[in-house]
Amino acid sequence: MAQQQMGNQPMIVLSEESQRTSGKDAQSMNITAGTAVAEAVRTTLGPKGMDKMLVDNSGSVVVTNDGVTILDEMDIEHPAANMIVEVAQTQEDEVGDGTTTAVVIAGELLSKAEELLDQDIHATILAQGYRQAAEKAKEILEENAIEVDADDTETLEKVAGTAMTGKGAESSKDVLAELVVRAAQSVAENDIVDTDNIQVETVVGGSTDESELVEGVIVDKERVHDNMPFAVEDADVALLDTAIEVPETELDTEVNVTDPDQLQQFLDQEEKQLKEMVDKLKEAGADVVFCQKGIDDMAQHYLAQEGILAVRRAKKSDIEALSRSTGARIVSNIDDIESDDLGFAGSVAQKDIAGDERIFVEDVEDAKAVTMILRGGTEHVVDEVERAIEDSLGVVAATLEDGKVLPGGGAPETQLALGLRDYADSVGGREQLAVEAFADAIDVIPRTLAENAGHDPIDSLVDLRSQHDGGAVTSGLDAYSGEIVDMEEDGVVEPLRVKTQAIESATEAAVMILRIDDVIAAGDLKGGQGDDDEDEGGPGGPGGAPGGMGGGMGGMGGGMGGMM
Ligand code: ADP
Ligand code: MG
Repeated sequence: MAQQQMGNQPMIVLSEESQRTSGKDAQSMNITAGTAVAEAVRTTLGPKGMDKMLVDNSGSVVVTNDGVTILDEMDIEHPAANMIVEVAQTQEDEVGDGTTTAVVIAGELLSKAEELLDQDIHATILAQGYRQAAEKAKEILEENAIEVDADDTETLEKVAGTAMTGKGAESSKDVLAELVVRAAQSVAENDIVDTDNIQVETVVGGSTDESELVEGVIVDKERVHDNMPFAVEDADVALLDTAIEVPETELDTEVNVTDPDQLQQFLDQEEKQLKEMVDKLKEAGADVVFCQKGIDDMAQHYLAQEGILAVRRAKKSDIEALSRSTGARIVSNIDDIESDDLGFAGSVAQKDIAGDERIFVEDVEDAKAVTMILRGGTEHVVDEVERAIEDSLGVVAATLEDGKVLPGGGAPETQLALGLRDYADSVGGREQLAVEAFADAIDVIPRTLAENAGHDPIDSLVDLRSQHDGGAVTSGLDAYSGEIVDMEEDGVVEPLRVKTQAIESATEAAVMILRIDDVIAAGDLKGGQGDDDEDEGGPGGPGGAPGGMGGGMGGMGGGMGGMM
């Protein structure tokens, strides 16, 4: 296999260990790998989708319904399979939700393509047709989008809630949706939400319904000294990224102690310097000091004497969040600090959350940073709630930014499939077949939603189509009752971007995979993983898939086998 035919003279251009698969074999191997990934997450789609339990090598367990989390945790090595995993990652980065949808569409685009490849339609024609279909699909979605105002809290809460359905967060959907929307609206600037400004803290203990939003920053630290106040009202806040200590270098170079007096002098000198630093802070008017570095014991004592609440070794990200929300400037040299550098908080207080003492900085002028405290009965519950909240924040942010939503429950996909089939007639030629295949592939979403909810997928699709044919563009499948209902009325809405991004990245990945007709794997790939996989990895034998990739597939199969 490590040979290439040049004229009738075989010429060796690849090393002995390289593995090469070409033409149809390469295509079908890649398609199989890609569709296997999609198949792995398909059963989790929709509100009635199932969860997966993922166990890693160290035995730690994750229970989730979140597409990108499942794929991240799986040990996938096949290169084409990884391109599908990237679809989920792109979706996660761009919108934060719709990862399963994107991957399932990508898988279905591949499997529809395989049927056409078998009918000798060339991959280039397919790629061309798929791209055209994707462009048209985005147009159709835009046409069907519903406008939403940034202050339309009710619709935003529906969007937030839809992203949570089927996840661990669902039972507390109303409470959480309200928190998510309030968080997004309070950090939004010109309708742009930087989700970095929304911290999420998880607390094991209590019910998810008791989750709350602190419009300010929570620092996971305690005050440094017992004699400091627990709470300060109307606080002027200083932020330091330098230690309140006498730098060591200044000490050990000069000192050469010969008698006890000298030592005392030296200690006095150090104390004096620390006292001066504290005086500086006091003079500037600081009531509260957050220090990113250490605070000397003696300095702690002086700060406590002055009634200043101080925190040491605060995280850099917390200091930055405090700076944004209190308006304080981060000071690097205590000598230079002035009252202008301080920020303001109506309340700074040490409070207990689930046995853990933290400092709450609230009533800030402009809460550009907020903190959500998510509660749940067990660690697995809070972790899954946190993932759902992240999806939910993503969709609310996307809705605020774009101002457009679509109904869920398979409504836009049904609309797309119908629109694309019409469009296919106008395309003509062999590309028409590709556009039709694309339309068929999109049907996988309503079909899977029905299947996962235990309804007859054929009946559901037929009903959906006839409703949409009759102009009921917001009709979708209510996953709970199995009825076809008006999704907009039902409050199941998603941002337009979830759907356009899913189409875009699924198409890109499918096209990229289809255009590959030659896979050349370096020998290293095989050596790197061969050791553990050798015994179980069936497909590596002679005549099977090349060793490198065969091992990868074996690894992937093993990972999924353990999971499903
Ligand atoms: P993804 O990772 O793609 O977001 P989900 O498991 O969150 O996967 O499922 C999303 C799909 O579920 C979307 O098509 C959405 O419209 C649909 N969906 C959400 N809530 C409902 C509902 N109440 N009834 C029907 N479909 C719903
Ligand atoms: Mg979702």
